[in-house]
Amino acid sequence: MNALQTLSGSTAPAGTQILFADNALAPSGWKENVRVVITPDGKIAEVSEGATPEGTRVGTLLPAPVNLHSHAFQRAMAGMSERRGSESRDTFWTWRQIMFRFLDVLTPDDIEAIAAFVQMEMLEAGYAAVAEFHYVHHQPGGTPYDNIAELSERIVTASSTTGIGLTLLPVLYSQGGCDGRSLGDGQIRFGNDFDRFQKLHQAAARAVAALPEDARIGVAPHSLRAVTRQDLARCVELAGTAPLHMHLAEQVKEVEEIEAAYGKRPVNWLLDAHEVTDNWCLIHCTQMTAQETSGLAATGAVAGLCPITESSLGDGIFDGVNYLAAKGKFGIGSDSNIRISLSEELRTFEYSQRLRDKCRASVATPEKSTGRVLYETALAGGAQAAGRASGALAPGRYADLLALDGTALDLDRTRGDETLDIWVFAGDDRMVADVWSAGRHVVTGGRHRQAEAIRDRYRTTMRALRQKL
Ligand SMILES: [Zn+2]
Repeated sequence: MNALQTLSGSTAPAGTQILFADNALAPSGWKENVRVVITPDGKIAEVSEGATPEGTRVGTLLPAPVNLHSHAFQRAMAGMSERRGSESRDTFWTWRQIMFRFLDVLTPDDIEAIAAFVQMEMLEAGYAAVAEFHYVHHQPGGTPYDNIAELSERIVTASSTTGIGLTLLPVLYSQGGCDGRSLGDGQIRFGNDFDRFQKLHQAAARAVAALPEDARIGVAPHSLRAVTRQDLARCVELAGTAPLHMHLAEQVKEVEEIEAAYGKRPVNWLLDAHEVTDNWCLIHCTQMTAQETSGLAATGAVAGLCPITESSLGDGIFDGVNYLAAKGKFGIGSDSNIRISLSEELRTFEYSQRLRDKCRASVATPEKSTGRVLYETALAGGAQAAGRASGALAPGRYADLLALDGTALDLDRTRGDETLDIWVFAGDDRMVADVWSAGRHVVTGGRHRQAEAIRDRYRTTMRALRQKL
């Protein structure tokens, strides 16, 4: 307690925050009467239990996870894709046509307004940070903006407005399929060859460098469909040890296309062709054989699961039970952003396993409940995938934290894993009271500090967009 007393006394630097939680989830388990000191640079300096109350008081304090996969602009498409097309069966591929049409009308201002709105929703749902898989780069028609990184900068500006921790992942998207066909009309706003992509990436990195120091930049080759084998290798080199994200093995048709072109299923091909290490994050992986599941788990890479979107798009069910049994790492993403809810993502993941296996508590252990296993897995996987020193209530980590609403009726006098299970299985975002992103206290009383202005701008943007569609 000595160091704590020094910090809380008159010598504490300006901007130091002190939180006091009735109970909190630390790496070694649940603790009571926990005092947390956050330094002005947004890091946790000290954590102690059995403390006396002071500073900002909260009920249950948790590390707040990273949302490891988002396409911000798709938030504005919510509700636009639930009608049946003329084809006999509506699929991922018909949804993609709607997405391409929507893209034709989006301006830089629209993209910034939508990104700020969805980032605000993420923060209010309990995510402290987002890895934005950003692939819309050019004007409608495919001509680059005068500033090649214009739209990357709009994502950066949005994160500056909302205070969310950003890992920006500029996306390389250069072909319409494995056979090297050129991009279709709907894809030309995404397209770059590798040389132009490198310039874009450099400019985006400069913009990210102007954000607070917790912001990161990575690289995202879109998928094995959209980049050549040679360009994938170049992306790996460009990333170095920075986050490297790629969509992989989401749809049956995609697996068939890769198999036909490369002679192997996508996960098998990738594991044979590249040394997949812990800076890799493979998004979806809903189409894996048992052997691919254990193979991916053994790499130490993170599987980026997006259970609500994977349900919405009919992707299939990730084999979470066997993947976790093989010590695989995963995190949670909101992908299409059709609905932003951290607790619902975790619940949807678990229920998909139960429906498939006709079981209950599929990933719980004798020591930890279902909610606890899911939550801790998502914390570690999200932080690793974003290249972010967060994910734990521990000194040296960024203060990415959330407090559950101590006055919520269902949480009254609950403790430990039961609190998490109530939130995940019976609750929703309304139970999230406070959120800090690298120490930035952006959500209080369940609302983002700039909620009114961000919502007003989004409303105006959407009214104008609906006129154009
Ligand atoms: Zn995606």
